[in-house]
Amino acid sequence: MGRAATPLRVRHGYAVNGLRDRVRRFLQRPGTVDLRPYLALLPDVTGRQPAVDRLPDAGLTSLARATTDDAGICALGREAARRGLGQQPFDVQLLGTLAMLSGQIAEMATGEGKTLSGALAAAGYALRGRSVHLMTVNDYLARRDAEWMRPVYDLLGVSVGWIGQASSPEDRSAAYAAQVTYGPVSEFGFDVLRDRFVTDVRALIAGPPDVAIIDEADSVLIDEALVPLVLAGRVEAAESWLGMAEVARRLRPGLDYQTDEEGRNVYLTDCGTQAVEAALGIDLYTDAHVGTLTRVNVALHAQALLRRDVDYIVRDGKIALISPSRGRVARLQRWPDGLHAAVEAKEGLSISRSGEILDSLTIQSLVGRYPVTCGMTGTAVTVGEQLREFYGLEIAVIPPNRPCVRADEPDRLFATVAQKENALADHVASVHDTGRPVLIGTLDVAESERIAARLARASLNCTVLNAKNDAAEAAIVAEAGSRGAITVSTQMAGRGTDIRLGGTEGDHSEEIATLGGLHVVGSGRHSCARLDQQLRGRSGRQGDPGSSVFFTSMQDELVTRYAPDSAPPAQTAGDGRMRELAAKATVEHAQRVAEGVSLEIHRNTWRYNKLVEDQRRIVLEHRDRVLRAGAALPALARRSPDRFTVLSAVASDAVLAEAARQITLWHLDRAWADHLGFLAEVREGIHLRALGRGLDPLDQFHKEAVPAFSRLFRAVEERSVETFETVPITAQGADLGAAGLKRPSATWTYLVEDNPFGTDIDRALHSVARTIRTILPGR
Ligand code: ADP
Ligand code: MG
Repeated sequence: MGRAATPLRVRHGYAVNGLRDRVRRFLQRPGTVDLRPYLALLPDVTGRQPAVDRLPDAGLTSLARATTDDAGICALGREAARRGLGQQPFDVQLLGTLAMLSGQIAEMATGEGKTLSGALAAAGYALRGRSVHLMTVNDYLARRDAEWMRPVYDLLGVSVGWIGQASSPEDRSAAYAAQVTYGPVSEFGFDVLRDRFVTDVRALIAGPPDVAIIDEADSVLIDEALVPLVLAGRVEAAESWLGMAEVARRLRPGLDYQTDEEGRNVYLTDCGTQAVEAALGIDLYTDAHVGTLTRVNVALHAQALLRRDVDYIVRDGKIALISPSRGRVARLQRWPDGLHAAVEAKEGLSISRSGEILDSLTIQSLVGRYPVTCGMTGTAVTVGEQLREFYGLEIAVIPPNRPCVRADEPDRLFATVAQKENALADHVASVHDTGRPVLIGTLDVAESERIAARLARASLNCTVLNAKNDAAEAAIVAEAGSRGAITVSTQMAGRGTDIRLGGTEGDHSEEIATLGGLHVVGSGRHSCARLDQQLRGRSGRQGDPGSSVFFTSMQDELVTRYAPDSAPPAQTAGDGRMRELAAKATVEHAQRVAEGVSLEIHRNTWRYNKLVEDQRRIVLEHRDRVLRAGAALPALARRSPDRFTVLSAVASDAVLAEAARQITLWHLDRAWADHLGFLAEVREGIHLRALGRGLDPLDQFHKEAVPAFSRLFRAVEERSVETFETVPITAQGADLGAAGLKRPSATWTYLVEDNPFGTDIDRALHSVARTIRTILPGR
């Protein structure tokens, strides 16, 4: 090929060299992927460009059909994006695509254009004959991204679809039939759960898992990893939580119960135990009352540890949870049933219906089903170790297209929350006076309201973006970069939405840039530095000017929870501002402790889940053989040869096979739901029993869970044989309803909020924070 000196080629050649330098200079971080093989492909991509450029659209599509190599996918993808979106992907975006095509997590800063990088990777997998699920954090982004990227997919001849909460089964089937399917993570999980209960192969919707590309990968794979997705069925009456809430309400803090310093656990004292026993007229610590003891603890947890407007809000007579990792109302999420009812009782609300859990699946398990996983996010490096440990994923740190020039100022530290908030309001007022847009990130809803009220008193108009108006949050965040805008937002509200200087219309964008761009103010450090980074990242996109600063105080929950015994540094200014390095070290130390605690919780919860997960896999493999391969009839015929002979005279083999399948599936599904219920009970109760005897709760859990599981298959077989011998079977089939073997008439799905309830693990971990505090360097 001749050296055609097209401007395009020259430009890319130049860019590659510059990029190589930048990669060398500051991006070879230890423990991350070496980008050189990807960089080495870029000249090849550029080299193919002239030939690809000349193709008509149809020619592009047919060439794509014959292309499976990395460089070819990038060259065609780049051209398809240029034609379809009018945007030519930058080299760095292709590096991200290449990392994802190699099954890695691409770390690319906010605003670098991950949507396009991910779409090109998805198209690449599709061109290689794979089926791709592109997972987003919510419905809105799934639909937005699928529709946004559709022209690119069309040009490459790759079909694309999306699913959302409201999608009908027909829409879902159609979306899954596409080569690339966008959807919120939870919906992919719910479809797996629903499919797992079908009794007819034709009713399956989702198809086998193949390639998962995960957007905001750290948030999904780490922060939300252990959120169980639940499929429930049938309605049962709620327990009498109101009485229990009343008992808990009368208990006196400090006297009747104590909470630990992290505020994660609450314990009855002897005095409190006596009070409860007197109120209920029972002896709590006898085996007969383990259930009651659990309920007392749940009610006490609801009373003492869950705070209105921090952990939940009351809206329309219902409890709406606030997601700790996102600081916004988590739609459809509930706590475990008992805790949810207990909080409803605490707030004097009517108790919502609860159903029997038929099956549940954590996001970590969902992702684990895919043979290929990759993803993208702005903040992965700090959780690199966990991504490797839990998912075997490597991180490729992709440099920004234009260097980030955002100025991250040092924290401003104060003695008290009041001093901090005063200073924050003054600060916002002075930046606002210059005309620069200000985005204030808060830790929870209550704080966002407090700060908004404080700003209003100073006659500063602001838009509050929090749990209470999340419907419009994407549109509001998109305008947060407008001249003079002040936006108060809880963490991650409007995530995935680009904040352009000058808002969506780009009005005054040059002027705003000259003034200094978007200024981000954090009202406190988050429980992990990664979330701080995400907030800062809202400013300074694509080389824009911008700045960020955090205001913290020694009364912030982070400090009081995780560094409670640090000596209060002497304050040095009239406004409470602290100037000592020691104060800064305390905050950072508290953050490291908090990060350690959440990692330990993840590890431990996963150890429990792993066992349940292994058992589920075995059950599902068996179920699949019954569903697809017709394993049921031979098994039943072998056990009941006489009955089989009798039935063979009245019904065809096909009818008998179907009857046997229905009977076996019913008992198998029933037994699994019972087993799950049993495991939940064991897990709840085990800590109380294990702790008393100095035993390891996890060992105890295994001791009960393993034998129970080995009994499960035998029980299913026995019950199936019994049904086979007794249920009426005619030429039309088996009448399972006559034997009371009805499937749940209605099922529904929901998410359970991750672990706000001090479960066994949590309680067992109450000493972890203390240990981590002592082993970490720092104060
Ligand atoms: P991220 O997910 O990385 O935060 P987005 O995918 O939301 O970023 O993209 C941010 C913005 O950058 C969008 O407005 C998008 O249109 C724009 N963009 C992405 N790629 C390019 C490109 N190659 N050229 C110009 N604009 C781009
Ligand atoms: Mg994005």
